[in-house]
Amino acid sequence: MDFRDTSEETQYRAAARKWLSEQASRDWNTSHITDEMEAKYAAAKAYQRERVKAGYGAIALPREFGGGGGTPMEQIIFRQEEVQFNLPDIGTTLGVGLAMCLPTIIHNGTPEQRDRFVKPGILGEEVWCQLFSEPTGGSDVASARTSAVQDSSNWVLQGQKVWTSGAQYSDFGIITTRTDPDVPKHKGLTVFVVDMKAPGIEIRPIRQMSGESEFSEVFFDAVRVPDTYRLGEVNGGWKVALSTLMHERAGIGGKSTNLGWADLLKIAEQLSNDQHDVFANPSHACAIVDSWLLEFGCDLIALRGQTALSRGGQPGPEQSVTKLIKASLLQQNGYHGIDLAGAAALGTDRHDIDLWNKVEHAWMFGAGLRIGGGTDEILRNVVAERVLGLPGDVRLDKDVPFRDVPS
Ligand SMILES: Cc1cc2nc3c(=O)[nH]c(=O)nc-3n(C[C@H](O)[C@H](O)[C@H](O)COP(=O)(O)OP(=O)(O)OC[C@H]3O[C@@H](n4cnc5c(N)ncnc54)[C@H](O)[C@@H]3O)c2cc1C
Repeated sequence: MDFRDTSEETQYRAAARKWLSEQASRDWNTSHITDEMEAKYAAAKAYQRERVKAGYGAIALPREFGGGGGTPMEQIIFRQEEVQFNLPDIGTTLGVGLAMCLPTIIHNGTPEQRDRFVKPGILGEEVWCQLFSEPTGGSDVASARTSAVQDSSNWVLQGQKVWTSGAQYSDFGIITTRTDPDVPKHKGLTVFVVDMKAPGIEIRPIRQMSGESEFSEVFFDAVRVPDTYRLGEVNGGWKVALSTLMHERAGIGGKSTNLGWADLLKIAEQLSNDQHDVFANPSHACAIVDSWLLEFGCDLIALRGQTALSRGGQPGPEQSVTKLIKASLLQQNGYHGIDLAGAAALGTDRHDIDLWNKVEHAWMFGAGLRIGGGTDEILRNVVAERVLGLPGDVRLDKDVPFRDVPS
């Protein structure tokens, strides 16, 4: 593949950059850390409306769904440009819908489900969450215990989910449920769309050290979900859940506005003066180069995934590599940002505040990113088994009826 822009792509990039710089000159709430989550969501929704109007809302999706009708390559170019600007945070607000739930519906939903959910989701009018993890374990997605029992044209949900990002701000969620406990765990799952305002749902936000309540516990007590909200076959939920997870990992490993090597470079330049040259300490230069190398490698792997998408396929298990690397890289970048500043890290007024905000975010959120969307260990298993073809992890419960698996 030739990674240089064609002349059309050069024009597209220039137009995107011009539009983005106009947007960035507006007075948006762009904070990465804030306990004013409503303001953060409002800014993300307003910015998403602008993106949709300009054809940048969901560039590679068909216009009939509110997408831009463009190519995956245009999507990549726009994202490469967008991360260079200080704009509202779509990733942690509308990102679950745009990057995971809506693609899952497009790939697995009925035409009626696509018509009902995709357009409002792209417009940012409806916010989505992912209800997979449960108190008994999040890594083993197939071990969901929240049950769904059919009652004529409805299903009745009973159980609990946890760590659900954005649950309290969401209109809809995608949920994994147990519909047949008499077969092995992967064969008895069904996935539904669930209305987060339905009677019987209780959402309890969890307070985090960053001050936010980014995720919640969600309880389901006899919650009725219409069969028309079922995604895929009854007991065919594992395939649907896997497609959500692949989109999630590709999204987390893709281009982001999180603290990166270019930010570290800017911080080093800001902190250098006539008396103190940050680069006199070679470990700082080494850390910035290491960060660049890892990011560049991830970009190349991401391009493979985008090539698959442009050929009508889906992101493959190799996307787990970028999620694995990018999550620990964010943590390392956070450590390095703090190391660079030394004692000055305590006096934020000396720095460009948005840049510093990113260091603080990387420091406090980096560890969480190594858990959310698949822990380091689970991703290593995926890479070992599905990319390298190494022998599988020991799975004693694989062929046992779920009912007989100890909880
Ligand atoms: C910031 C953040 C946002 C999140 N958002 C969501 C969300 O929106 N929706 C959602 O459903 N969940 C969400 N989660 C939950 C996340 O998916 C789970 O925390 C994660 O999958 C791990 O599950 P667990 O915490 O139950 O740990 P466990 O699954 O109990 O794992 C505990 C430890 O054991 C290790 N381990 C488990 N199995 C194996 C194995 N087979 N081999 C080797 N080691 C193993 C794990 O790596 C981990 O270190 C979020 C988590 C975070 C941190």
